[in-house]
Amino acid sequence: MDKNCIPYGSDVSAGTFECQDCGDVITMASRSSLPPCSNYSSLTHIKKCWKNLSGQGDAPNDPYPNK
Ligand SMILES: [Zn+2]
Repeated sequence: MDKNCIPYGSDVSAGTFECQDCGDVITMASRSSLPPCSNYSSLTHIKKCWKNLSGQGDAPNDPYPNK
């Protein structure tokens, strides 16, 4: 799964997600399915996916350089 574009309805773990179409940010408190964006419109939302900003497990966005 591309964590930069996770389609609506995908099952994800808790974390923060940013709408790829409008930049709206949502927080998922627990594992569940991603909802459509609250600003969703077929005219403005063509990607219909979320970017995973933070979460558990599969996002090695470690702010510390680690050699
Ligand atoms: Zn949106």
